[in-house]
Amino acid sequence: MALMESLVRVLASEAPRHNITQIKKVKLTVGALTHALPDALRFAFSVLREQPLFAPGAELEIEERKTRCRCRDCGADFAVEGNLGFLCPGCGGFAVDIIQGRELQIDYFEGD
Ligand SMILES: [Zn+2]
Repeated sequence: MALMESLVRVLASEAPRHNITQIKKVKLTVGALTHALPDALRFAFSVLREQPLFAPGAELEIEERKTRCRCRDCGADFAVEGNLGFLCPGCGGFAVDIIQGRELQIDYFEGD
């Protein structure tokens, strides 16, 4: 809930800059490593969208991004399922860089 509240605060300050008084749709990208659960975000949004900042029935679209890593040894680029190991499936190395999965961002919002 706190997370969604802070996103709504961002929207509340951004919307006027785009001459939007009622937001109809918000698109978020949520990386797996943020541990932000899409269902929890949707629930929080369903409560927060009652504010006048949002048009009635405003939509939330969530794009979930898996965690991806790149091996520093062999350069393999691989997806990590859940919180399971960050071991390179190519060479077994564990010197990996996280290249995706930490995102939590508003991609865009639309409204009038
Ligand atoms: Zn490797």
